Amino acid sequence: MSGALVVAWLHLAASRVAAERMHLTDLDAAIGDGDHGINLDRGFAALEARLAAGDVSIESPAPILALAGRTITGTVGGASGALYGRALLRAAAAVEAGPIDAGMTVVRVAAALRAAVDAIAALGRSRPGEKTMLDALVPAVAALEAAAAAGADLPGALRRAADAAETGARATVPLLATKGRASYLGERSIGHLDPGAVSSTLLIRALADAANGA
Ligand code: ADP
Ligand code: MG
Repeated sequence: MSGALVVAWLHLAASRVAAERMHLTDLDAAIGDGDHGINLDRGFAALEARLAAGDVSIESPAPILALAGRTITGTVGGASGALYGRALLRAAAAVEAGPIDAGMTVVRVAAALRAAVDAIAALGRSRPGEKTMLDALVPAVAALEAAAAAGADLPGALRRAADAAETGARATVPLLATKGRASYLGERSIGHLDPGAVSSTLLIRALADAANGA
């Protein structure tokens, strides 16, 4: 992930979050408090403003991811703001720890996504099967790691990760929520898509599309 890929990803994510704002919010209205799309859109709009203001050098990926993490943490609110914010900060640290001149190889992106997903699981005290964003993200990182091990290139590997996220998000419908606000509904959480799994899929698809030159 050169800095350019991270910036392209965040721009694409911001425009798609804006377009999907009401859809994400409607999903959250069904099993939560109806703010997920509004929360994320506020955060990504703030991030776009900071990127436009030139608040960070776009030379290297880690500072951009760290700016994104701080901005999302400070502006999104709700469970997803804390979780996505922490994930971005951990991804920044993982990228920072890698070799400086290696560019964004599939192995490096996989390590960053692994760090991000592990951070969400740790902060949320959650794991797949609980009807959360992890039901999209854990299969996505597994697919990315498998593709990396098989020697896939970054665009191809990320496409597979996005496909796995989509399948994982769809599979949240029959699940009983045991984490977050949706868990307050108990059995009534069954039969609905998890909004965070859908937004996570959007974010991974945007990364894949950015890597594929969209
Ligand atoms: P809030 O629930 O505080 O209103 P959002 O509506 O922005 O926050 O985000 C809700 C999403 O956050 C859920 O759909 C779920 O995917 C995710 N989520 C909530 N709690 C957890 C958790 N403990 N671990 C992982 N993801 C979680
Ligand atoms: Mg909510």
